[in-house]
Amino acid sequence: MSTYKTQGIIIKRSHFGEANLLLDIYTKEYGKIQAVARSARKARGKLKGHLEVFLLTDLILAYGKSIDTITNSTVKNNFLNFRNNLKISLGAYYVLELVNKMTIQYHKDERVFELLKKELYFLDHLAKEVDANEHSVPEVIKKYYLSILFLQINMLDLSGFHPEVNKCVSCANKITSGKNSFSFKFGGTLDEKCSFKDIDAISASDNAIKLVRLFSLQKTDNDEYKIYLEKTFQKFGKIQIEDKLIFEIISIMNRFIEFNVDRKIEGFRFLG
Ligand SMILES: [Zn+2]
Repeated sequence: MSTYKTQGIIIKRSHFGEANLLLDIYTKEYGKIQAVARSARKARGKLKGHLEVFLLTDLILAYGKSIDTITNSTVKNNFLNFRNNLKISLGAYYVLELVNKMTIQYHKDERVFELLKKELYFLDHLAKEVDANEHSVPEVIKKYYLSILFLQINMLDLSGFHPEVNKCVSCANKITSGKNSFSFKFGGTLDEKCSFKDIDAISASDNAIKLVRLFSLQKTDNDEYKIYLEKTFQKFGKIQIEDKLIFEIISIMNRFIEFNVDRKIEGFRFLG
């Protein structure tokens, strides 16, 4: 039996046949893959508990004719902290659904893996912070929202759907502060004189445009991107912005995402 190893994050888990599991996994080496785990739901199955959603795990898979089979799973992190925090775990579910719907199988991008991994570690760390000190809640919520917004904008970038926020998507004039709007149909900002071109466009505040620019992808090389992630996540605590505004931009970015993938992201309604 020919096998291969990969590290991945389990993004979706469904029942398959009587005792099997069907898993969607975002892997470092192959991008998103789908694989089956036979007998994983049996009480004594050796994989039981090693293939839950969110897990970061080292996998061994056997090549199959139509689908590969997971033969071993060694859990690296189970993110137990955020699993016990309802609000943060709902954010984590949203993130998994978003990554799943914005990626296609066997299209490898190590940056997507690193981004998702970083986000899950960060959310786990936030949950720990709340457990240790309940007064940290407002600060944690701000960082929680900023991290989700950052992930949305980066996923849009990495999938080639990044909204244009530097120039008007209609006349190409530079966007300056003032009465601009976001157009989902045209994929970015419209300036005041072009806003009539899309009746569905919604108002884009200067702060919203600034934050989208700030979180836009700046590194394309895998290693540089990892460093960029580390640095950016550390800065979330220093950004002065109201939660309400961050959430407003999250909801706008969610609409860009849904427009581009042409599917609803169900988990969005649990975020607010
Ligand atoms: Zn214009």
